[in-house]
Amino acid sequence: MKNKRTYIAISAVAVLVTLVLLLRTFSASPLPTPKPYAGTLPSATPPKEIAVFSVITGVNHRVAAFGYRGGSLFERRDFSMAGALLKHPKGDLLIDTGFGRNIHQQFHTLPAIFRAITFYRLWRPAADQLKAAGYDPKSLHAILLTHSHWDHVSGLPDFPGVPVWVTAQEHEFIKKSGDMDFCKLFPDILYEEYGFEGGPYLGFPASHDVYGDGSIVVVPAPGHTPGSVIVFVTLPSGTRYAFVGDLVYQLEGITLREERPWLVRRKADTDAEGNRENLLRIIALKERLPELIIVPAHDMRGFAQIPQLPSR
Ligand SMILES: [Zn+2]
Ligand SMILES: [Zn+2]
Repeated sequence: MKNKRTYIAISAVAVLVTLVLLLRTFSASPLPTPKPYAGTLPSATPPKEIAVFSVITGVNHRVAAFGYRGGSLFERRDFSMAGALLKHPKGDLLIDTGFGRNIHQQFHTLPAIFRAITFYRLWRPAADQLKAAGYDPKSLHAILLTHSHWDHVSGLPDFPGVPVWVTAQEHEFIKKSGDMDFCKLFPDILYEEYGFEGGPYLGFPASHDVYGDGSIVVVPAPGHTPGSVIVFVTLPSGTRYAFVGDLVYQLEGITLREERPWLVRRKADTDAEGNRENLLRIIALKERLPELIIVPAHDMRGFAQIPQLPSR
């Protein structure tokens, strides 16, 4: 009897300690401040016709604590599920698709535990938003993925025949078909790989200048997935955007230097160390260029700084 009571007491203490340790991984713990980016600012000659539009397709109801260490467990946040349309005279690009027309059916293929803690709402798929804006789908040259997770690719089948640009690393990742990936559901997608033939760019080791005019430059940012990228867009006005995908879920990842909590990193990132390295690069760049507009795929405040598609 005494042994049984001792066993119960030890188990209760062990559970309590585990819970406290787990909760601590959600508390604030800022990364060290990196030195501001000290390199040159690359020149760009963007065409005057270039334009950027936000395409928010829905939301995921989360709490701030899911997005960054130190975020409240009780502060509700609607995470944007979104993409962006880049209009360029050499061919328009869609950065990610957000939710597509078949998100409800696709969602059922995700792991049960994830579905149990995920409450999303579809607003309007990207293809329908473009149509409503009177956009000619033939103008869409390619879809450029920041990475291949479910919430970034759901709308791919809504753009039949449009090539999907990925890095070789992300293409391999897609072929392995992880449990958070819908690409296995889309056998007809035409993937086109691109490389990083250009030199260092704003603190990143390599780059791919899409149209050779410096207006749309992709850099490797592996970590969240093996082939994750950041897309820099420079307008003739000098305004610069950084579409960082899921490098951070919320802007506090950069402004407060707070990573995702350990539990979220463990599940969401294939290489959390690599993600941290790229996060520090973006923090260092933002120190140097405070006017840089950073757009995480899931932060409404980033998309609020981009014009919406005009309605017809
Ligand atoms: Zn992701
Ligand atoms: Zn995402």
